Amino acid sequence: MQTISCTLRLNALPRFVKPCPRCGHPYFENSGCFRINANGKLLDIRLVCRCENCKTIWNLTVCKRKDRKLLDPQAYREYLENDENRVLLHVFDPAFLANNRATLDLDHLDFCICGESPREREAAQVTFSSAYLLPLPAGDVAARILGVSRSRVRRMHEAGTLAFSGDLRQTKTAFGFRFILAEGWQRTEQ
Ligand SMILES: [Zn+2]
Repeated sequence: MQTISCTLRLNALPRFVKPCPRCGHPYFENSGCFRINANGKLLDIRLVCRCENCKTIWNLTVCKRKDRKLLDPQAYREYLENDENRVLLHVFDPAFLANNRATLDLDHLDFCICGESPREREAAQVTFSSAYLLPLPAGDVAARILGVSRSRVRRMHEAGTLAFSGDLRQTKTAFGFRFILAEGWQRTEQ
């Protein structure tokens, strides 16, 4: 049996679905930059986003009036350096999104799959892992891993050539999932 491990790489920072109060454009882009305001020992940290069309600024709160001594020094450096990993940790954090009433544009998430692609007809165990809490349905990611349509993945699941313990449409990818391909599996229907 093939053992396949793969992960995801984002090609661009995810944008947010939010109608612009000024021009009505439906999306805000993520600048990838934090804005830090210090008031004595207290820090306000925000993530700067902009309307894709008219560049109206929308700042998402990371923390408010936080005592700098309570902030991990490594994390503080990452905020100062606009570390992309730090940006992504917030962007995929459900509490951060809820606090800011922010919604990710998951329909246009620009990513690629890193890792070997399973060989057709050979049984395989495929493990996908993500460094972030990925809210995409597992079936969508499985389709990208295999290079087939989402409906093909569902039909393979129904036919038993793809074993997955969960609902391909409802179960979120989160930090990862695993599925098994049965011997004889094929990308296209015969
Ligand atoms: Zn606008």
